[in-house]
Amino acid sequence: IVVPNEPVIPFIEGDGIGVDVTPAMRQVLDAAVAKVYGAARRIDWQELYAGQKAVAKFGAGVYLPEETMAAIQRYHVAIKGPLETPVGGGIRSLNVALRQDLDLYVCQRPVRYFAGTPSPMKRPEDVDMVIFRENSEDIYAGIEWAAGSSEVAKVIAFLQNEMGVKKIRFPDSSAIGIKPVSQAGSERLIRRAIAYALQHGRKSVTLVHKGNIMKFTEGGFRDWGYALAEREFADQVFTGRQKAAIAKAEGKEAAVAAERAALAAGKLVIKDVIADNFLQQILLRPQDYDVVATLNLNGDYISDALAAEVGGIGMAPGANLSDTHAIFEATHGTAPDIAGQGKANPSSLILSGVMLLEHLGWTEAAQVITAAMEGCIAAGEVTGDLASLQGQAGLSTSEFTAALYRRIEA
Ligand code: NAD
Repeated sequence: IVVPNEPVIPFIEGDGIGVDVTPAMRQVLDAAVAKVYGAARRIDWQELYAGQKAVAKFGAGVYLPEETMAAIQRYHVAIKGPLETPVGGGIRSLNVALRQDLDLYVCQRPVRYFAGTPSPMKRPEDVDMVIFRENSEDIYAGIEWAAGSSEVAKVIAFLQNEMGVKKIRFPDSSAIGIKPVSQAGSERLIRRAIAYALQHGRKSVTLVHKGNIMKFTEGGFRDWGYALAEREFADQVFTGRQKAAIAKAEGKEAAVAAERAALAAGKLVIKDVIADNFLQQILLRPQDYDVVATLNLNGDYISDALAAEVGGIGMAPGANLSDTHAIFEATHGTAPDIAGQGKANPSSLILSGVMLLEHLGWTEAAQVITAAMEGCIAAGEVTGDLASLQGQAGLSTSEFTAALYRRIEA
């Protein structure tokens, strides 16, 4: 992509603490861009409306106006604060609507530790992973029917009469959900994860799945992933499947030696771990994991568990990506309990802004913000969510933003 010197970057302020964190993010990004590029580059912010602000402007029920979607389509990138999921039937979660309509099939979440952040880990500095969560399939596709509904009765009759499902009894109180996982959907996600790992000099991609139980869906994800890696990245990877084949033919030692040789030759290791074991491993041996590719539901659990190791959702950035579009967003919600109180930690959205700058290729500005964040946290200049873990009050959103700003300017 060719990035102009003054790219239009659409932003959605977001509901709840959006009013706190979104202005903070814009101020910090503007400061870093000005610091690094002077007058030569500038972000041309364009506000888009969604959520409560859209309702206020366009009328009841209009949570996601056409023109917001059209602008994101046109400009290919956007950054957004959290949006409240409207209560009441018939309205899709706005976040889900954005993901589905733009086919943002990757949810990318880098998880790294900033020294000084309170953490339950003994060696939190070992946590440095990038999660690629499949964003469009799995049980999250939202295909489910309520217990007692006529649809459930039809599905059960179909399963019993047409599909030969005899062993499982369905009590009358059954609700039913469907878990679609496709080869194409798995491959495009895993391809992105492997390409990212190669581009960023990462050591491994771990496919996290529950294929021991769900053989065709989660097991398919693993098998399609290995096959894709060996087919499309043949010269650049060494896979767990290849290792297993060597172990079978020549013994375990030969397999370990082959993997060591591959690593020494600069190859990327593609391995797989069962999801429940993975949740243990990220507590016990996080240093063994680097880029992670996984299905939608696993990715949801894993992202939050990892975020907790490095300061919680206030510190966790994210992006939703398609082949052509990228929406960067805070990973937390609207935090109604602290909304409007000036207490929110803007770091999740600011670090999402760092990802946006990297996406534009403005890596120097991204680095300036990361360094300022490192400085603040190391000096104990943090918001209440982090400070309270150490029995302290912490800074307000604006005090923390000012502290970051001072370090960027320095
Ligand atoms: P939440 O993330 O809003 O809040 C969970 C807890 O974390 C709260 O105690 C909150 O105070 C705290 N918290 C969250 N962000 C913080 C920050 N930046 N700084 C300090 N503390 C922070 O989750 P929830 O309460 O389950 O959801 C509230 C609303 O947000 C719901 O309507 C939900 O649908 C929506 N939501 C939106 C998104 C999104 O837009 N991507 C994501 C999750 C939830």
